[in-house]
Amino acid sequence: MNRIIALDVDGVLADFDAHWRQCAEQVLGRVVPQVHEDHQLRTRYGLTRQECDAVWRAYHDDEWSRLPLYAHAADLIYALEDLGCTVWAVTSIDVRHRAARAESLAGLIPSGRIICVGHAAPAGAKANVLRDLCAVAFLDDHPANANAAAASMPLGTVSLSVLLDRGYQGLEAPECGVTVIDDPMDFPVLVESLLKRTGRIAPREGFAPCKGLAPCKGAA
Ligand SMILES: [Mg+2]
Repeated sequence: MNRIIALDVDGVLADFDAHWRQCAEQVLGRVVPQVHEDHQLRTRYGLTRQECDAVWRAYHDDEWSRLPLYAHAADLIYALEDLGCTVWAVTSIDVRHRAARAESLAGLIPSGRIICVGHAAPAGAKANVLRDLCAVAFLDDHPANANAAAASMPLGTVSLSVLLDRGYQGLEAPECGVTVIDDPMDFPVLVESLLKRTGRIAPREGFAPCKGLAPCKGAA
């Protein structure tokens, strides 16, 4: 029975933001304070276009393999695997960085289950991958990706599109159909509830049913 789960990596499993900022400080030789909550890195760190380009060049050259995982990354994946799920990474980096991505994931998700949609891929690219994988649930920290996955629900197999809200500004709002969480460990709870609802796993004896999904922000 299909229990394929797809996860974004940057901002979900790996602390890309802190690592990119650390790289920026090394490249620019100065402290790089966060000056804005904007999702776009140049605005977030008050960089010129030239500075931002220089950081990205250095990052692409040598940093993807060193990207540290969040403390919760292993627990999140193990919790999903304990539910009998197969976890895939669907990530917005270029395919040339896939080996480095696998290295930074330290075996939690093998290289063969990492799909790179490209650094500048449109939001719909991940939704297309989810359809091809027949993924039943998806977690991302960018609302455009979660929205696109939710919009594809009537057409495909994804039944649960979840946004991990990192508080970024300058992004679209999550649309109805997207479940919003602020703790990544809420995701396996939602997945377990979905699997039980759809008969993919039997409820455990004495299991207290989930009280309901997190509200869709902005929903009427
Ligand atoms: Mg992300």
